[in-house]
Amino acid sequence: MNHNLFATFAERMQARGDADFVTTREGHGYTYREALDTTARLAGALRELGVAPGDRVAVQVDKSPETLLLYLACLRMGGVYLPLNTGYTPEEIRYFLGDAEPALFVCRPSDLDNARRVAGETGCPQVASLGTGRDGTLMETFEKATPFDAIEPRDDNDLAAILYTSGTTGRSKGAMLTHRNLGSNAASLVEAWRFTEADRLIHALPIFHTHGLFVACNVCLMAGASLLFLPRFDVDTIIDELPRGTTMMGVPTFYTRLLQDERLTRELTANMRLFTSGSAPLTAETHREFEQRTGHAILERYGMTETNMNTSNPYDGERIAGTVGRPLPGVEIRITDGESHQPLPDGDIGMLEVRGPNVFIGYWRMPEKTREELLDDGFFVTGDLARIEEHGYVQIVGRDKDLVISGGYNVYPKEVEQIIDELDTVVESAVIGVPHPDFGEGVTAVVVRQPGAALEEAEVLASLAGRLAKYKQPKRVFFIDELPRNTMGKVQKNQLRERYKETYR
Ligand code: ATP
Ligand code: MG
Repeated sequence: MNHNLFATFAERMQARGDADFVTTREGHGYTYREALDTTARLAGALRELGVAPGDRVAVQVDKSPETLLLYLACLRMGGVYLPLNTGYTPEEIRYFLGDAEPALFVCRPSDLDNARRVAGETGCPQVASLGTGRDGTLMETFEKATPFDAIEPRDDNDLAAILYTSGTTGRSKGAMLTHRNLGSNAASLVEAWRFTEADRLIHALPIFHTHGLFVACNVCLMAGASLLFLPRFDVDTIIDELPRGTTMMGVPTFYTRLLQDERLTRELTANMRLFTSGSAPLTAETHREFEQRTGHAILERYGMTETNMNTSNPYDGERIAGTVGRPLPGVEIRITDGESHQPLPDGDIGMLEVRGPNVFIGYWRMPEKTREELLDDGFFVTGDLARIEEHGYVQIVGRDKDLVISGGYNVYPKEVEQIIDELDTVVESAVIGVPHPDFGEGVTAVVVRQPGAALEEAEVLASLAGRLAKYKQPKRVFFIDELPRNTMGKVQKNQLRERYKETYR
């Protein structure tokens, strides 16, 4: 049997025939049958450009239906898909090409000269370009290519993709993901979230990241659902499309921004059956406000580049704000001290470790790091701190690297942030640890005020005084216009630590 993930997709694509697979607002798109045929010719083009099974195909192009078909064509011919953040500079691309040694680099048409130069410097033998208007040199090769009608045989453990992590805590690492990793997780999510052919997913996420590519696109493909591809998140566009969609997958900022718009109502979202959130923590407050306004309880789930999705709130049953739900079927979770890897007593906060068919097989060319984080018993050490609540739901407390240790005591930033965020005059906050001569790290709060609010440091400190142990209370509070975030809406705490590092010196 061929374990190529594309074989499963191809069956669905064949069966869905003339149904819409992916479309844009401008009406450009592909039915399932057209998509299937196009992947054959594109796979042929990749082969003609010298890509052989097992070769990496690095891709830094803007989101379009063709980009998605390029991913599928790559799977089809046995290549290893390697998408790159569209925001990376040529300097950053040089690192990725040098690290990944792809057989082909596909870039935006406007980047072709730079791409050729960087490819030359890093020994990448081929460069092609792909634009959003079905243009670029890849499309020229495509027009003349002989279709590759077969599906390259792959084993369960053959690589399907190398996906670089978001780089929130340091340099991005290439996570090696197999056909089985991706296939098993997509199948679980179709079940868990009840995806069917009747679904129309409003897709406003980037497709160089696990959320927008694997969670959103693999799930739709496996269910035979259709995708509306939007270039980016734009409130007006989303409001306009909600009445015609059935589901949307978002990062928390999608929801906070929609809530700022009065047009978001129960009526507007009446056709929608599911809103999901992930990639960063959704606050309990946003969850509650969204439910009050629309009647929809956002379904929060938790995953990462290395593991695909691990836990999810239930489709039926209670979706508990501030939690990420229970492990998906086949996924095991344990909370340990992070060093001996022995489970802690129920309810304790510790390192979240995960095992299952969803877990990657290692970091590309980082054997040391792989050994540290992927244990002999198959558990992966996520770097996230969490606890399992009585009802079995997992609560993410924060990242291990963001934990503040002040005077020898652990301070979980989230606990402090939640209380600060309760102030009416506060939009949001981030609590960090920065070097302190006496305490090792000093707890420091960075706060975004509501527009026009006259909140001062003393007032923030006073609000915490009776509610938190002294060692958890910030030593200083700073105000900022907005928290630094990356494209996935993740707060860049390392930038804040850098900015305030001299505070107690
Ligand atoms: P890097 O590993 O390079 O530092 P990153 O961890 O941000 O970057 P991703 O793999 O994109 O890269 O993100 C996974 C992380 O996102 C998780 O480890 C977790 O910290 C966070 N995350 C994902 N979903 C949730 C969620 N629902 N709630 C809280 N955190 C989440
Ligand atoms: Mg990570």
